[in-house]
Amino acid sequence: MLVLGRPIVLRKGHSAFYLSSQAPRLPKAGETIHGHKFFIGFGGKGANQCVQAARLGARTAMVCKVGKDFFGNSYIQNFKDNGICTAFVDQTSDAVTGVASITVNTAGQNAIVIVAGANMLLGEEELQRAQGALGKAKVLVCQLEVSPDTSLQALRIARKNHVKTIFNPAPAIPGLHTDFYKASDIFCCNESEAELLTGECVASVEDAVRVGRELLHRGCASVIITLGPQGCVVLQATHPEPRHVPTSQVTATDTTGAGDSFIGALAFYIAHYPTMPLEEMARRANLIAAVSVQTVGTQMSYPFKNDLPPELF
Ligand code: ATP
Repeated sequence: MLVLGRPIVLRKGHSAFYLSSQAPRLPKAGETIHGHKFFIGFGGKGANQCVQAARLGARTAMVCKVGKDFFGNSYIQNFKDNGICTAFVDQTSDAVTGVASITVNTAGQNAIVIVAGANMLLGEEELQRAQGALGKAKVLVCQLEVSPDTSLQALRIARKNHVKTIFNPAPAIPGLHTDFYKASDIFCCNESEAELLTGECVASVEDAVRVGRELLHRGCASVIITLGPQGCVVLQATHPEPRHVPTSQVTATDTTGAGDSFIGALAFYIAHYPTMPLEEMARRANLIAAVSVQTVGTQMSYPFKNDLPPELF
């Protein structure tokens, strides 16, 4: 299934269902209210990033765990529908598939309950099973929606095998182990994650550059901080100057999952154009993420290669 020498992007990460209801207001404890809209969506950072990379043409595989239930079966089918290898997607009867129940009121405020379920059972055994593929991949992308120990171990295996690593410290945890930085070829986070990790405010491009320098000093080869409509900043240990990479001016309809679209695109470029300067990869990933914010939904809004200008490939 995994062919040596062809670009493969491996994602280790979380896959979850979103059950989203819209109601006039959020229910109080013990209360039942009527909502007027409901939708089910596929989510989870690892899964989103994988879907975006696959839609751009990368050969991808997910290493994750879902429950032996309706949601788990549907998620595996979703991976297959997106051309993603599911050889390392494990199904367990010991936990449910990860779900997020979301209620949104008319003011756009939400109340969310996430049950990580099977995601938290991803560990040593599954990594062992994927180890051969991990060592041969072009890129590994990890997040923090599974156990941090499992993510760190996967990053270490990848580094040992000269596989490029992208680490997305999301959701960010204070006091992140310093080995995460050392194991990251690209440490890619958004403004709020950068703030939580450094304790410094990120309200401008200049702030992002300052905070990016601090993250870089912790041992990563490169740092990218995404800045929503302002694009991103790129810092590299081998490059003297931090660079601000702006994105296109668009009317954003729904920015949910834009960061995952960016990371999926970045992984695609690393796998397919390994000699392209990182700044250029970030410029193109910006343009792809900017397409995703113009349509409602997360994975639903991610563009396919055929939807994009040929200059991006
Ligand atoms: P999310 O948590 O919703 O997935 P994020 O906070 O991780 O998103 P952002 O920094 O908001 O990520 O956005 C990621 C990338 O998406 C940006 O670097 C940019 O390229 C693109 N982007 C986001 N918002 C906009 C916007 N309003 N206009 C154009 N591009 C955008």
